[in-house]
Amino acid sequence: MSATITNNNGDFYIKSMKMNQKLKEDREANAKSTSGKVPPKNAEQAAKIIKSSNIVCFDVDSTVIKEEGIDELARFCGKGKEVARVTSQAMGGSMTFQDALNIRLNIIRPSQKDVANFLKLHPCTLSEGVRNFVKHLKSEGKEVYLISGGFDCLIEPVANELNIPLANVFANKLLFGFNGEYEAFDENQPTSKSGGKAVAIGEIRKIHSDMNDPMITMIGDGATDLEAVPPANHFIGFGGNVVRNEVYERAQHYVCDFDQLYYKV
Ligand SMILES: [Mg+2]
Repeated sequence: MSATITNNNGDFYIKSMKMNQKLKEDREANAKSTSGKVPPKNAEQAAKIIKSSNIVCFDVDSTVIKEEGIDELARFCGKGKEVARVTSQAMGGSMTFQDALNIRLNIIRPSQKDVANFLKLHPCTLSEGVRNFVKHLKSEGKEVYLISGGFDCLIEPVANELNIPLANVFANKLLFGFNGEYEAFDENQPTSKSGGKAVAIGEIRKIHSDMNDPMITMIGDGATDLEAVPPANHFIGFGGNVVRNEVYERAQHYVCDFDQLYYKV
């Protein structure tokens, strides 16, 4: 198009065309957070990575399941708005992961009975295609792990649905008192701290030290999943439930549908 500009103000026109292009790109970037679907990035290569991986680790909230467990539990306990406020502050980077978890749990203070009732009335909603995808990975002899900043009592039913042994789940643990009242969360779990997913992957590497330098791939929607590389070899962003712009921009590989991760010869 620039070849058609022949007048003395050609530079100005080119500049304004570039600005228009930039505005268009900005508008498209903003649309990503609202539309919920974005074009895949290097999906074919991502499928090849999965094919070559020995161990595939999934984030849980907004990846394996459609929602965020802690937000749902908070809503169930009548503390949804208060917790959402802390979540958005935490996402703004004003507090550590551990502080954000502590503040939110002190607002919700879920008892053992609350958790049991929540699970009864609120069965987990698996993301589309994840059941078959996990089945496929296992049929190919790959180890499958769940690594979550959420709580093991909420993730256990998800693992059971997907036939993933509980030994392959890394998540936070809620601690209850003698009468089932909320007491605290276990601060010794790697996933209770910032950078915890990378620590969990390091532990998985140790568990599988018999495999000769296994290839480990992490799949997830969030920045904490992206930060699992290294020690994970690869990260594949997943935007089937929510697209986080920062993750989409930073990820080399990104899909919105698990079907895109089957390797087709
Ligand atoms: Mg997530």
